[in-house]
Amino acid sequence: MPPAAESAENRFSNTFLRLKKKLERGVGEAIADFNMIEDGDTVMVCVSGGKDSYSLLSILLALRERAPVNFRVVAMNLDQKQPGFPADVLPAWFESIGVEYRIITEDTYSIVKDKIPEGKTTCSLCSRLRRGIIYRVASEIGATKIALGHHREDMLETLFLNMFFGGKIKAMPPKLVSDDGNHVVIRPLAYCTENDIARFARAMEYPIIPCNLCGSQENAQRKQIKAMLAGWARDYPGRIESLATALQNVVPSHLADQRLFDFQGLTRHSQVAEGDTAFDPPELPRAPANIVRITPLDGVQD
Ligand code: SF4
Repeated sequence: MPPAAESAENRFSNTFLRLKKKLERGVGEAIADFNMIEDGDTVMVCVSGGKDSYSLLSILLALRERAPVNFRVVAMNLDQKQPGFPADVLPAWFESIGVEYRIITEDTYSIVKDKIPEGKTTCSLCSRLRRGIIYRVASEIGATKIALGHHREDMLETLFLNMFFGGKIKAMPPKLVSDDGNHVVIRPLAYCTENDIARFARAMEYPIIPCNLCGSQENAQRKQIKAMLAGWARDYPGRIESLATALQNVVPSHLADQRLFDFQGLTRHSQVAEGDTAFDPPELPRAPANIVRITPLDGVQD
């Protein structure tokens, strides 16, 4: 269990209560904005034992107390038989908070070790296997929603990963339908910052299960993006917030994807939502004194 002393907050301080309220507000807004949870839903919350999924479960349970709709929450953990996985930790935790839960044991670790040559990254096969099991369990328990603990930074990392290495402007959506059309996956922490979640989890003293039990290295490209975003957060206050806002502010007429905007049919008489600013400098908000002004030289151009 992580030492409580590491945390600036304790569960009874005003700072913690403010933080809790902020996270609950963020989750509540995301749920409402994307219509994530409806009356009668069964929400299966995938809990890995990391800070994000523990926090998601606590916040959803707190919000359920005062939600205008009724929904069932089932916590689900997949024991993938990673060496050293402490199989008793999560059942004990779920019992202690009185949440309905399922523990599923599937030895994907052996499959992955068997199929992937030593030294190669195992995460993509491992995640594919995990996803299949999660969908199967969701069907078995009649879950209408599958909730995952990804947060704002996860979404931004994915955006840059896709842009830098996949040639796509594509992030991680707050809500999606599975490939087979049978499941709706939701990410209620979409508006929450990793830093707030980390502070919350420390104060809550969750029995964190380390995520590197399988011995796989974190994907090197993701690590690189994480470092880039952390550097921006440190050196350019407001930049990460602006990026997160940008995910909700897409202007197809100012990109170059012909599937999203009819450039072929664009004529002198077409009405374009953002108007013609081709020759104007970009309209950017006035920067507060401590924020470095973004200029076209930073790559922001119309
Ligand atoms: S880090 Fe290990 S457990 Fe996690 S996805 Fe990769 S291989 Fe699977």
